[in-house]
Order: sequence, then structure tokens, then C-alpha cells
Amino acid sequence: MNKLLSLLFILSSILLEAQDTPKTQNIILVTFDGYRWQEVFKGAEKKLINNKKLVKDIPALKKTYWAEDGVTRREKLTPFLWNTIAKQGSIIGERKRASKMKVTNRYRFSYPGYNEIFSGYGDPKVNSNDFPDNPNLTIFDLLSSDEKFKNKLVAVATWDAFTKIINTNRNSVPVYVNIKDTAGKCTSGNLTFEGWNEKCPPSNGFILTDSLTYRFAKEYISKNHPRFAFIGFDETDHFGHEGQYDSYLHSANQLDGYMQDLWNFIQNDSQYKDNTTLILTCDHGRGKTGTQMWRHHGGLVLPADKIWLAAIGSGIKTEGSLKQGKFYQKQIAATIAKLFGKKFYEGEKLGKPIDEILK
Ligand SMILES: [Zn+2]
Repeated sequence: MNKLLSLLFILSSILLEAQDTPKTQNIILVTFDGYRWQEVFKGAEKKLINNKKLVKDIPALKKTYWAEDGVTRREKLTPFLWNTIAKQGSIIGERKRASKMKVTNRYRFSYPGYNEIFSGYGDPKVNSNDFPDNPNLTIFDLLSSDEKFKNKLVAVATWDAFTKIINTNRNSVPVYVNIKDTAGKCTSGNLTFEGWNEKCPPSNGFILTDSLTYRFAKEYISKNHPRFAFIGFDETDHFGHEGQYDSYLHSANQLDGYMQDLWNFIQNDSQYKDNTTLILTCDHGRGKTGTQMWRHHGGLVLPADKIWLAAIGSGIKTEGSLKQGKFYQKQIAATIAKLFGKKFYEGEKLGKPIDEILK
């Protein structure tokens, strides 16, 4: 009898799993490294934008990004986020509305954060940005072991640690970093895209790498149509550490523009239109508002555990900025798996899907 019961249990769980229909066919996950929830929901910050030490040309910057009204201000800084995602998708992390999202790792810097995003676990052992190959199984391992995702995964990033965080040695997922633009050729590793017909945007003091990352990613995505792509940007964190609030805001605005461009491409591409999900988030927050601590993050910078997430497209509800809820970075991997109709790895410490934003 016991055997019969357990057989029935196994059969029913197989059936249940088979019934988990995919909510989407393709997902593009994008991270803005160290981009604060404060700017996401409130736009440029008054104390910082008026600080001569942080901003070279205050009147010019205010003309571009300032408005007394917080809603207008955030729309000026990241118009795609507020005019498109907020109206057609869902955004998490607006503290004013009691919508909270945090990292659960205690370190509040990049490798531990990206590990938490991909593996669904804020692993205390992952404690350095120089950590070797990630020992934790991630969403990349889960998908790469499924025939339906064969040759349909990719990561493109500004920061070269992603080869280790994703552990391409273990799962062979292609990870493109250190992207270079040489005489109209865009290269990373052994992959080259030739004949770019437009020049990179003028540098204006930017380190420019995020623009190359975006161009490379878009070119790869439009040629190969991966089912799961990760794009990791880095300039927001870089300019935060440098204490250049003007460049930090310009970077955020530029990334928002890339997302608008990517979404336009998705919705005009026959293979991606109406069956693709775009998810934006960050690896960690930064220090307290209105102080020098906005530049920093890490184990001792407690407010840097606060993060945000935005999603639009197939399988995502039209909730706008959520009115309440407590969410965690470790839930992102399981959410991606569920969108694909798959179950993420089992484990007591692993995050559960964010059902509140799923159709
Ligand atoms: Zn940093």
C-alpha cells in the first residue's frame, strides 16, 4: 500500500510538473550595477544634484533631469521605465508604497549579489569579487541541461567576472566580456561583428564600455535569437564610486534608452514579438540618501541591501509600481524558471517565485 501511495504521488507530481505551462518563450534579464532605488522611484536627488563637488555643470544637469515634482523628475531620468514598463508591466521596490525588495546576502557588493540573482541563494561562502568559479547551480545550469535551450543561452557583460559567476567552465554557456570596438569591428573573445554602420556615441567623459556591451548584446540577440539572455551593465556603479553624480545620472538615462531600443526591437521582431519578457534589476543598492555614503556599498553599508526590479512582457501582470509586499533578490532565479514553465532547484534556502507579478 505504501509503495502504491508513493507511486501515485510520483505520478501525480510528474503530471503536475507537466501541467506547468510556460508563460513566456524568451527572457532577457538586464542588470544596472549598483543603481539605487532612490533614483529609480524619485529621480535625481536634490542634495546631490546641487552639490558642486559631485556635478560639473549644475544648471545644465538640472535642466535635463530636475523637476520639483517627483513623478515628473523620475520620468525625465528614466522615461522608458515610467512611461512604458510602469504602464504595461510591474515595478517592485517603491518604499513610499510599502513595496520592498532586498538582497539576503550580507555583503552588499557585486559577485555575492549576482550569485544570489542567478542561484536563488545568498550564499555566505561567496564573499569576494575575486571569487573563483561559482560553486552554486544557477538558472544557467538549469536551462543548459534542457534540450529545448540548447545553444539558446548567452550572457554579455561589461564586467569580466561574469565568466566565473555564471561558471561557463561547468555549463558552457557563452559569456562575452571585454568587448572592444576596433575600426568598425566589435569583438569579444573569438566573436566579431563587422561593419557597424554607426559610430559609438561621443564619449563625454564616459568610459564607454556599456555602450559597447549593449551594441554587442543587441547584435548577438538579433542574429542568434537566444531564449534566455543576460546583459550586465556597469557604469552606474563606476560613477557612483567616483562620486560623479552627473555621469551617474547620464549613465542611468543612457541605459534606460537602451532598454527602450531593445523593447522596440523585441516588439518588431517576428520571433520575439508578444512572447518575450524583459526583466531589469540590480546587484545591490548604495549608502544613505543625501550623504557621501551614496557613493558606497558593502557589508558595513546597511542601506545598500535595498534593491528594485522591473518587468514587462509575456507572463507579467500590469500592476504598475506595486503597492505593497516584501521581496528578495533570491527570488529572481525561481521567477525566471517559473516563467519558462520550469521548476527551479529544490532547497530550503532557495527563494520562491515572485507570483505577485506573474500572470
Ligand atoms: Zn561597486
